[in-house]
Amino acid sequence: MKIVVCIKQVPDTTEVKINPQTNTLIRDGVPSIINPFDLHAIEAALTLREHMGGNSTVEVLTMGPPQAEIALRDALSYGADDAYLLTDRAFAGSDTWATAYTLSGAIRKLGFDIIICGKQAIDGDTAQVGPGIAEFLGIPHVAGVSRFESISATELRVRRLMDDGYDVVFTSVPVLLTVIKELNTPRMPSLKAKLRAKKMEIKRLLRTDIVLEEKDLGVNGSPTQVKNIFAPQLTKDRRMIEGAPNEQAEQVVQVLKDLRCV
Ligand SMILES: Cc1cc2nc3c(=O)[nH]c(=O)nc-3n(C[C@H](O)[C@H](O)[C@H](O)COP(=O)(O)OP(=O)(O)OC[C@H]3O[C@@H](n4cnc5c(N)ncnc54)[C@H](O)[C@@H]3O)c2cc1C
Repeated sequence: MKIVVCIKQVPDTTEVKINPQTNTLIRDGVPSIINPFDLHAIEAALTLREHMGGNSTVEVLTMGPPQAEIALRDALSYGADDAYLLTDRAFAGSDTWATAYTLSGAIRKLGFDIIICGKQAIDGDTAQVGPGIAEFLGIPHVAGVSRFESISATELRVRRLMDDGYDVVFTSVPVLLTVIKELNTPRMPSLKAKLRAKKMEIKRLLRTDIVLEEKDLGVNGSPTQVKNIFAPQLTKDRRMIEGAPNEQAEQVVQVLKDLRCV
């Protein structure tokens, strides 16, 4: 069984700072880590590999700048078999749609049975990339997996967390799963594993290695337009909005317009 794990390198902070000119994240001077949800994705993949045995493999993949190699090397020290860095100037400025499109192209090239993503990234926070990859590949996905109930080469039975409890979902393989923290406790890499990972090759994938439409890549292929991003100032000002629901809705829209949110 071939398991591909998508990981994202994110700033090690919960206070994300935005460049007001470009509306992009300020990453300079902020240490980076593997997105915490993705550690659970790696652990899930390693557990599946142990369960399935045989020729099962775990491959980790990230799309990002060259320094994202550090995250991949960390993932290798946890026990992944191979690591791929999808990096190219053509991918810069990708929104979630273009990110999912590009990752799906790479995963199609690598081949897969199960793809595992974190539920969401702690910087972008949209939780769109995993389901987006599944859509581009035309495979089912289960989001928010909190437990494996049963596993075979052709079928999985998993629990997914819902607002009012959980669902038990049967799915065929191939499938994409996004996982939450309740699923497992990520293992700690041993010193020996860290030393081994240091020597392992990080394989690079460029735009020319993958069959992708040029127009759908990077900032040009990103339908999301970020008009304005800002951290709300905490104030004690309050304004009560009165009236019928439609009048209240109009007033809310006006307030948001005044704040340049819409
Ligand atoms: C218009 C626009 C422009 C942007 N420009 C930039 C930019 O210039 N630079 C920049 O860094 N960000 C940029 N972003 C943010 C970037 O699009 C998102 O960070 C990215 O698409 C992932 O979305 P997310 O963080 O919400 O991930 P989520 O959907 O919350 O992530 C869910 C899971 O998907 C997987 N995943 C997500 N991203 C990756 C990845 N890159 N590689 C592998 N797996 C992944 C992980 O498993 C993760 O746990 C931009 C966003 C928009 C809307």
